[in-house]
Amino acid sequence: MELSSFMEALERRNPGQPEFLQAAHEVAEKVIPYINAHSVYEEARILERIAEPDRALMFRVTWEDDEGRVQVNRGYRIQQNNAIGPYKGGLRFDPSVNLSILKFLAFEQVFKNSLTTLPMGGGKGGSDFDPKGKSDAEVMRFCQAFMTELQRYIGADTDVPAGDIGVGGREIGYLFGQYKRLRNAFTGVLTGKGVGWGGSLIRPEATGYGSVYFAQEMLRHRGDDLEGKRCVVSGSGNVSQYTAEKLLAFGATVLTLSDRSGMIHFKDGLTTEQLQAVMHHKNEVRGRLSDFADANGLDFHADGNPWSVPCACAFPSAVQNELADADAKVLLDNGCFVVSEGANMPSTPEAAHRFEQAGICFGPGKAANAGGVATSGLEMSQNSLRLSWSREEVDERLQGIMHSIHETCVRYGSDGDGPVNYIKGANIGGFVKVADAMLAYGVM
Ligand code: NDP
Repeated sequence: MELSSFMEALERRNPGQPEFLQAAHEVAEKVIPYINAHSVYEEARILERIAEPDRALMFRVTWEDDEGRVQVNRGYRIQQNNAIGPYKGGLRFDPSVNLSILKFLAFEQVFKNSLTTLPMGGGKGGSDFDPKGKSDAEVMRFCQAFMTELQRYIGADTDVPAGDIGVGGREIGYLFGQYKRLRNAFTGVLTGKGVGWGGSLIRPEATGYGSVYFAQEMLRHRGDDLEGKRCVVSGSGNVSQYTAEKLLAFGATVLTLSDRSGMIHFKDGLTTEQLQAVMHHKNEVRGRLSDFADANGLDFHADGNPWSVPCACAFPSAVQNELADADAKVLLDNGCFVVSEGANMPSTPEAAHRFEQAGICFGPGKAANAGGVATSGLEMSQNSLRLSWSREEVDERLQGIMHSIHETCVRYGSDGDGPVNYIKGANIGGFVKVADAMLAYGVM
């Protein structure tokens, strides 16, 4: 099997889907040599089958805004692969959402979920609806209209969505309420629920905490740790906030946060009080960092990004392709040697290759940010058991899962005495479990 012919066929079938092709290329590049050494996967055409979603659903979402005007958006759910468990993956509400972005995310999710050790397949969904600038009532009406259609396709044993960009606790509440009303069933059909109504402690924190735990695992593997390290974080949403929180708890210094308006440089390091204030500003006020920086006299760069600030560790935690090759070069030149991807595919392929060539600790998103979906898996377990675990219990399981993901990466990504190739380790480690299940089911 050759990478070029695999990609040519994929490009022919998926024109105009650059993000999906980028994600598929990254996986195929690492997995095809493994497949060539294990011909059973090639004969069964496992990789071709994983790259084709089981189904991609698209639907109209019609709702009324506060002025009584009719609004039309597009909803999606990509059910990529359920070989090892129900489809599982978040919902993204953002004007940039399209089929290519959701297919890339769903494809990545298959490998990530497999790495968590929990029984979850891969999926992703969302809408081009923009929650920014909308009233709570508008967000509620949109979510209700979205779920009215989505509920046909999901279920606790079928497909279990969660949050992602633009979908936080408020949106999950409206979505779950509508599902419960339409189906007259209180089941674990969504994760990221409030703790009083079926949610898990630590779920909001899990992706950010997990990304820091993964960085700590990579460092420990080299006989080092995070204490005292200078770190840059991008974004200021869910993942970034809890990445910063855990870094502070580990005694690291957090130098930056960012959003679509630009970047704040905390020259003396972010304090816990400043982080609390940022959380309030982003989660309650729903404001921009530029206004926060103005109000607090902070060093703000409208055109800047965190990668220009000298650091030892970088945590890209905002959006896909936010870290380009030139940024990777600046990071490496400034001595950065740990990159833990809180976001999905934040590094461009060129940037990822540069990190790989440099032999630094580069944790790709499907390993480093898997703590979020892993804790969603723990929420599903608690829902099935009709039990709630304590904060300590969930956190301990999360740390155990991040440790085992790291071990899997080391197992499949080590080559002699050289540095661990975490991209290779995560892709092959994620692939094998799904592939073996698909072989067991026969041709379908
Ligand atoms: P949020 O919506 O809470 O935060 C997103 C952050 O990224 C915001 O600060 C936002 O800025 C910024 N951002 C979004 N788009 C852009 C852009 N085009 N340019 C610059 N900044 C941008 O989302 P999450 O924190 O939940 O998700 C962040 C990333 O982590 C995504 O890639 C997501 O797929 C990934 N992820 C999330 C998981 C989770 O559990 N939430 C799990 C695994 C991965 P602004 O505030 O201005 O909009």
